[in-house]
Amino acid sequence: MIGEEHFSEGELVAVLTTEPLDRLLDYRAPEGGCALGAFVEVPLGPRRVLGVVWGPGEGSFDPAKIRPVTRVLDAAPLRGEMRAFLTRAGTYTLTPMNIMLRLATRAPGLGEGPGMRKVYRRGGGMPDRMTDARVRVLETLEEFGGAALTLGELAGAAGVSTSVVKGLVAQGAVIEEESPRDLPYPHLDPELPGKPLAEDQAKAAESLCEGIEAETYGTTLLKGVTGSGKTEVYLEAVAECLRRGRQALVLLPEIALTAEFLTRVEARFGARPAEWHSGVTSTERRRVWRMAGEGGLQLVVGARSALFLPFRDLGLIVVDEEHDTSYKQEDGALYNARDMAVLRASLCDAQVVLSSATPCLETWANAEAGKYARIDLTSRFGVAELPEMRAIDMRAERMEPNRWISPTLARAVEARIKAGEQALLFLNRRGYAPVTICRACGHQIGCDDCDSRMVEHRFQKRLVCHQCGATKPMPVACPSCGAEGRLAPVGPGVERLAEEVAARFPEARVAVLSSDLFASARALKEKIAEIAAGGADIIIGTQLVAKGHNFPLLTLVGVIDADLGLQGSDLRAAERTFQLMRQVAGRAGRAERKGLALLQTCQPEHPVIRAILGGDEEAFWRAEAAERQRAGVPPYGRLAGVVLSSPDLQAVFEFGSELARRDAPLRRIGAEVFGPAPAPIARVRGRHRVRLLVKADKSAPLQAALAEWAGQLKPPANLRMSIDIDPQTFY
Ligand code: ADP
Ligand code: ZN
Repeated sequence: MIGEEHFSEGELVAVLTTEPLDRLLDYRAPEGGCALGAFVEVPLGPRRVLGVVWGPGEGSFDPAKIRPVTRVLDAAPLRGEMRAFLTRAGTYTLTPMNIMLRLATRAPGLGEGPGMRKVYRRGGGMPDRMTDARVRVLETLEEFGGAALTLGELAGAAGVSTSVVKGLVAQGAVIEEESPRDLPYPHLDPELPGKPLAEDQAKAAESLCEGIEAETYGTTLLKGVTGSGKTEVYLEAVAECLRRGRQALVLLPEIALTAEFLTRVEARFGARPAEWHSGVTSTERRRVWRMAGEGGLQLVVGARSALFLPFRDLGLIVVDEEHDTSYKQEDGALYNARDMAVLRASLCDAQVVLSSATPCLETWANAEAGKYARIDLTSRFGVAELPEMRAIDMRAERMEPNRWISPTLARAVEARIKAGEQALLFLNRRGYAPVTICRACGHQIGCDDCDSRMVEHRFQKRLVCHQCGATKPMPVACPSCGAEGRLAPVGPGVERLAEEVAARFPEARVAVLSSDLFASARALKEKIAEIAAGGADIIIGTQLVAKGHNFPLLTLVGVIDADLGLQGSDLRAAERTFQLMRQVAGRAGRAERKGLALLQTCQPEHPVIRAILGGDEEAFWRAEAAERQRAGVPPYGRLAGVVLSSPDLQAVFEFGSELARRDAPLRRIGAEVFGPAPAPIARVRGRHRVRLLVKADKSAPLQAALAEWAGQLKPPANLRMSIDIDPQTFY
């Protein structure tokens, strides 16, 4: 609560800063005092740093040396519930508090007052003379769709000097104007009529609304096949939340691509919500951050980090496509936004809606155990029906060398094109070919800094390491034996598949959807809209297409290699394949025409492939759950992944072995350490990687034991240790 505690001038306060210090620092409250939770600037050595008043000072420091807080920033104090959230999330993920505070202050210029500032937008005039730089400025303004940018943002985004912008202002092509900082967002009206809901949808919406009316914590799994209207249903929960004057947050994966969703919100509530993701300008980020805290916004649609916005009164968090792996932050603070959403909601009496057609096993099990409520939407809205799913047994198909589309699949594609419908060929591999091999000596081209093979990207004319992003031109001679002209691609990526498609269906219009083929999210968004409007006959896509896009003309999905995800030892391989295949298949037949999904597989009898085809999801979850229970792994046991990395291979192994030996703190809670072993990718960016795995019972106090265990040894210089609670991937 605001003003729950106030420190008067001169009183000792403990301040949490964003500096890597691992403890609170004592200061004296400044003139006028400061509130608990206030954002402050404090002196630290010769610098001034950002901090938050975290509590009363500890007084362990020489009182004569304690300096006063420099100033209190003009921002709503961090509320008690938010401080509790950061503390609990930090404890859960073993993340130092300064890093947690950084997550919660990811907006620039927090210290600046309200005031006015100059912004720039497109004017009516045209410049007398067009230069490349001028074109870039005008295009940049276009790209931001009418939004005004500051001089620095505009010049930066266009890659020109500020004088170019000023020149355009002089000519009337760009308008300069004064604008107040940080205006509240336009009002969203929950009373505007929503779409009339079908009976099952209405019931689902009603039960979500009950939780919101109660203004207590609760989590609901909203499980419904793609196209069943989950979005319509949870928008009603958002409406109820807004009616009660509380704020709502909708988390989406791939948020930069979600123009469609924003349009739907606008249609429902009469205005656009606040957006929070990496594509938003820093001016806008600051506005979202401040308005969240001041109550100047009702709804944020955002990426996972939106969870750390300082909402004043958050009543609902929707996690759309809750199974999506992009909710797991994989560097810095390792957190899963889905789990953190539940934590945050439990601290502020909010409801959580986890929406998915294919929930992750953790969520499914929580619903089974009664921890989460569960609502099912079992049919597609209106006339749309779920696609039929069939396997193509690749062992029985006559395949030519270097061809990946079977005759059966080709015939099906042909038929769709004839009927004026669309076909999607799904291959979850970017680039041209995953491996480049020398025909003379058998050498495979690898990354210089990583233990991984380089992927040919013919479109960019380069080899790319998908681990570290390093690129190099395709060599003419084999780097190992020197033979020239003997390097050959092995296996398909989407670019190579596109070649095959062009050869087989020369008349068809082909679109390739792969994240690396588009210069900007905007370009990709446009392509998606064009395809939805019928601008392609065959779509070739990576997992990018599995997510929420609506292609009404799409009636056939062909999965080029359904076995791809089943390889490897990842504990979630089966679950992931199941989810991905169901999601991709769900792209077909979303309008009147019935869809068909064909899965090319060499192992049609594999239990996961059979479960996908059989469509008995509950049976799949039950079997998968039993398997995990037997193995004592999540969600029935707990895991923590520890990755040690260093340029020095011996040092990293020695440190890992020493840690493994000193396992007493872990043994005390019944946990076990496995390893050290080379990580599946044993070298990244020149650093050798070693991993340990800690396995414990579900109820064991794992974090405290891990902290004690890891705290026994100080890592040598240059050795990094990262601990990942509930790891999602093992690499
Ligand atoms: P999901 O989120 O489950 O994939 P959506 O909410 O996106 O489903 O709904 C799928 C399609 O059906 C959308 O185009 C949506 O507008 C439409 N739709 C769903 N429910 C209704 C309804 N009650 N009235 C009109 N259109 C609906
Ligand atoms: Zn690399």
